[in-house]
Amino acid sequence: MIRTRFAPSPTGVLHIGNARTALFNYLFTKKEKGVFVLRIEDTDEERSSSVFEKDIIENLKWLGINWDEGPYKQSKRRNIYEKYIKQLINEDKAYYCFCSQEELAAEKQYQMSIGQPTQYNQKCRNLSKKEVEKKLQENKYIIRFKTPEKKVEFNDLIRGKIEFDTKLIDDFAIAKNLQNPLYNFAVVIDDFEMDITHVIRGEDLLPNTPKQILIQEALGFPVINFAHLPVILGPDKKKMSKRHGATAIQEYKEQGYLQEALINFLAFLGWNPDSEREIYTINDLLKDFSIEKVHKAAAIFNIERLNYLNGLYIRKKNIKELTKLCLPYIDLIEPIISSEQYPPAYGGQQITQGYKIKETKEIITFEYLEKIISLYQERLKKISEITELTSYFFKKQLIYDKGLLAWKGSAPNPALDIIELKLLNIKEWTFENLEKILTDLSLEYAQSINKDKDRGYIMWPLRAALTGQKSSAGPIDIALILGKEKTLNRIKQAKK
Ligand code: GLU
Repeated sequence: MIRTRFAPSPTGVLHIGNARTALFNYLFTKKEKGVFVLRIEDTDEERSSSVFEKDIIENLKWLGINWDEGPYKQSKRRNIYEKYIKQLINEDKAYYCFCSQEELAAEKQYQMSIGQPTQYNQKCRNLSKKEVEKKLQENKYIIRFKTPEKKVEFNDLIRGKIEFDTKLIDDFAIAKNLQNPLYNFAVVIDDFEMDITHVIRGEDLLPNTPKQILIQEALGFPVINFAHLPVILGPDKKKMSKRHGATAIQEYKEQGYLQEALINFLAFLGWNPDSEREIYTINDLLKDFSIEKVHKAAAIFNIERLNYLNGLYIRKKNIKELTKLCLPYIDLIEPIISSEQYPPAYGGQQITQGYKIKETKEIITFEYLEKIISLYQERLKKISEITELTSYFFKKQLIYDKGLLAWKGSAPNPALDIIELKLLNIKEWTFENLEKILTDLSLEYAQSINKDKDRGYIMWPLRAALTGQKSSAGPIDIALILGKEKTLNRIKQAKK
């Protein structure tokens, strides 16, 4: 039975890198019908925070990366670690070190000055029992692992055979005291206690792996499989950071990236199917993902690709779903919530009776909003863009920048007068009528001013009058949604 874990330290939010680690663990495990464990590595109390823990858990859930067991918290497992620390000390595989910070710093300084690698000088390695007991009275110590001299070898599922010479590893610290294990130690104990079979994690943790294997061996734990995922770099081949785009998953969520798009994007950070196919839902990934196909070479984070994928997924949404996703971003309206609630069997939430445009107090329906959103479904890259794109529908007064209404430098009058007159006389405000009248008008008008068939002399000032924006959806669609009264009103406003 395959068992894996995602083991974030709550010293920061869930970001692109560790979300990718979580996803690859999830895919690898679920494909094999194994068990995926979530473990919060919060032994470092100073740096850990419940705010980060909450962020990690909520964003994993949002991404749909679900775990089967946990979250286990290391801070609640101190007794377990203590047992094993004592075991190592009793078996003379670990020892108390009483060296002060100053001593260690001075030693390091000296080693650097003579060009040696900085390693602990093993001063406390062979203290007598008596000496140890005496020094323990002062209660100032850490616990170090007695690193044996040997070669550590393991077979990484992605990187192949890896060898480390322990000459390069000193007697590293495994605990601050009996109750406070350090990362390398707590990880090994938990991976064993939780029956983890595969450790899949970022390449940045590779230098820790030989240390962890040494501890496993010292405690007689079975060998575990390792897979180290390639680093993620920006397009400039530098380590992925804020400069290349947001790193926090929460930020992507807030900007209106869809969960499906992010999953699809994350999956390709270091993995590729053999085909050209680029759209992969989580279910497709569960079929095709394999750890052996994960690359050794760095993955490149390309925000353009994420935007492209997000646009694709937005276009695949049905309009109802998309409108619901857009609602939180339309800040110029507010829901009208009735005091009634749906019966519990239907979810129990309060019934939304419609929406109120804040500035005009006008009431609109969900269906009306659907029409507005559908104007932009094709061009949306992130949901948050909907705020700006549709704001003109909900404003009482538009602001017309100088020159906005002019087509190719030509004044919007008398075009707007003529449009107003024509529209005033429309009896049925339908798309067909609007299209016919405005097309005929724009061709006639262009001819009358010797501009051949340039429809812009009518269509541009009309569109600009209705939106106050340099670019938007087409004027006929907009006029249809606004209705006759508002359309004529805006033309009047624009003329003024
Ligand atoms: N807690 C470690 C981290 O967040 C990862 C532990 C592991 O995967 O071994 O960097």
